[in-house]
Amino acid sequence: MSFTFVWHQLFRKKRLTMTSPIPIKVLDGILAGILGIILMHYSIGVNDMTILDLRHIPVILVAFYGGFLPTIISAAVIIAGRFFIAVNFSSYVALFMMLAIAIGSGLIVRYMKGSPLKRWTVLLLYSQLIFSISLYIVVDKYAEVLDFALFHVLSTLIGGFLTLYFVDYIRKTSERYYQYKENAQRDALTGLYNVRSFDRHYNRMIKEAIEENETCAICLIDVDHFKQINDTYGHTAGDEVLKQLSELLSRLTRSGDILSRNGGEEFSLLLPKCTVEQAKEIAGRVREAVYEHGFLLPEQKKLQLSVSVGVSALRPGDEKQESLFQEADEALYKAKQNGRNIVCTSWECSYR
Ligand code: GH3
Ligand code: MG
Ligand code: MG
Repeated sequence: MSFTFVWHQLFRKKRLTMTSPIPIKVLDGILAGILGIILMHYSIGVNDMTILDLRHIPVILVAFYGGFLPTIISAAVIIAGRFFIAVNFSSYVALFMMLAIAIGSGLIVRYMKGSPLKRWTVLLLYSQLIFSISLYIVVDKYAEVLDFALFHVLSTLIGGFLTLYFVDYIRKTSERYYQYKENAQRDALTGLYNVRSFDRHYNRMIKEAIEENETCAICLIDVDHFKQINDTYGHTAGDEVLKQLSELLSRLTRSGDILSRNGGEEFSLLLPKCTVEQAKEIAGRVREAVYEHGFLLPEQKKLQLSVSVGVSALRPGDEKQESLFQEADEALYKAKQNGRNIVCTSWECSYR
């Protein structure tokens, strides 16, 4: 379990699945093989030649999640490891045993339908059966080692189900963790950053600008008369327009700029290392592109839309760090007051 935990941490973002890229499958196969070798060093010695352990569990584990390739690789690593422990009749039987387990497990995973638990149970029983048959082959008087054999079956069942429970639990937990993290950062309708992410990026941008004695700027973009669109065409059409607008804005954004939907029909663009003149130019391009874009409504109707943009910037040595946002907000208010479809700073508006 310690091993599978560390293993999972290493591959947290590249978990083994049936569709994983080949290098991931190969690496997982090797790691499963190493785990098998470690397990062989915690064996029960049946006699001076034969050892019993849970080396088959990592093999069926990678079969269960990753299919044939990692299974065969893990078996090959374990076979090699077994020959390092000793070369004797038992290790040759172990070779065929691992091959039978690997090939059989690969086939079970590929062709067996049914719930994951059912498949895991079949994998456990199959691998244990092969192990037990091998034990029967290598010991002369099977009746004398019956207690070992039964103990081994029991260990496989307890160890096997606990392993699946543990691995499944940590995989699902981290899957959900990444999903919730993503959901917490993004706006559900448009997929853009939400206001929470905006706050984070805004604070970081200002901090970096001050540290590096750089400029930075912000554009607040608000759709003009958006309420009318909802009132005329319905809320669903309004949502559709917001989605198309977010796609358009994304296309206009350079990498490094942060585009967010701050709420409703308000968007923001954070522009690191940008002067007020450059920001005004970018805002002007955004305004123009939106005005020229035909937004598609249901029933193929095209809609013209405009946005008002408030711009403010931070110059090196500026005192207004906290008020950068407020200044852009005031500029936006000014844009609305001055007839909309326009870009304003707090001191002037650029008329078309
Ligand atoms: P102005 O030009 O002054 O900005 O006018 P406006 O109508 O755009 O501004 P107002 O703030 O009065 O209305 C914003 C509207 O945006 C009100 C609300 O119904 C709509 N809205 C907010 N969030 C959503 C949303 O997620 N989907 C849709 N469809 N509409 C939204
Ligand atoms: Mg509006
Ligand atoms: Mg608004």
